[in-house]
Amino acid sequence: MPHPLLDLPPLTAGRFASIERGVAELLSTRQDVVITQGEALLPLEACIRSGARPGSTALNVVTGPYGTTFGNWLRDCGASVVDLEVPFDTAVTAERVAGTLAAHPEIDFVSLVHAEAATGNTNPVAEIGEAVREHGALFMLDAVASVGAEPLLVDAWGVDLCVIGAQKAMGGPAGVSAVSVSDRAWARFAGNPAAPRRSYLSLLDWKERWIDAGRAALPHAPAQLEMLALEACLDRIAEEGLPSVTARHAAAAAATRAGAVALGLAPYVGRAAEAAPVATTLRAEEASLVVAKALAADPAAPLAAGGGALAREMIRVNHYGPAASLPVVRASLTALAAALGAPPEAALAAAESAWEAGGAR
Ligand SMILES: *Cc1c(COP(=O)(O)O)cnc(C)c1O
Repeated sequence: MPHPLLDLPPLTAGRFASIERGVAELLSTRQDVVITQGEALLPLEACIRSGARPGSTALNVVTGPYGTTFGNWLRDCGASVVDLEVPFDTAVTAERVAGTLAAHPEIDFVSLVHAEAATGNTNPVAEIGEAVREHGALFMLDAVASVGAEPLLVDAWGVDLCVIGAQKAMGGPAGVSAVSVSDRAWARFAGNPAAPRRSYLSLLDWKERWIDAGRAALPHAPAQLEMLALEACLDRIAEEGLPSVTARHAAAAAATRAGAVALGLAPYVGRAAEAAPVATTLRAEEASLVVAKALAADPAAPLAAGGGALAREMIRVNHYGPAASLPVVRASLTALAAALGAPPEAALAAAESAWEAGGAR
């Protein structure tokens, strides 16, 4: 029996290249885009292993759990690592980044997470990018949790390596990701004898075999279902318009925050301007118990307890992709109200007026 997911015509090189162009447009970049056929940790690790080497020094900005992962990879590669860690309930400032760069002139690589879904904060990449560019280091950005949810201007912000994944605000599957690579980054990789070659982690192999070969033939069979899903994500975003997609995420964050405050829950990220549009984190005692009760009331609500040690003190309300909508925010608040034994009306009213204000913050 023919099956719509299984009996597909082969994905052509031309179609693959057009999906790449769609990603470049989404990122406002003229750089090369490499689509990596795996979850976003694949291009993140590939960037670090290609850019870092013994003798290099990296500034690793840690504003959540992913920063710790990057620091470990950087050390694995033999780089000296300067960790700049800020409390996970705030954002890092451009001044602190600039100060650290000034104190360590040898820094030649900077890794930063744009928005952290795990902790609910977002960092001022435009200003940080300026400081990094002035210093001259290569700038890697993990934009998995920001792409589609908030402005992301790769070329204007001087980002050399911008990693995205389809699974958050793009509303797609976790099995496909991408990275934009600047000419400076390609040059750095090419000059790094430790950069992966003849490897699934090799961005240079991909450049040689696909980009420099004129994108005529794919080196391997493409992950077809994931590519088609990525294409569908790009089409859906183009149809709605990127500005309305990001505005919808901002409104969802503002509505969730206002509703949670009306329920007596304190936002984990104190300043609204530092709160990520992709997910709202809240402080609560026995957070995992509250989440369990809320999910018993509504198993479909996009709620989770914080990861690891944060499970005791943090509730995470996800509102990304199709869940960045007023009905889903209402459902999350209603479930939390049920868990807390509180009436939901005031929270729902607060959420609605914040939603209507359009997430202005
Ligand atoms: C979600 C996310 C990723 C992808 O990681 P998963 O473990 O697959 O969720 C990477 N970086 C950031 C900042 C993320 O929020």
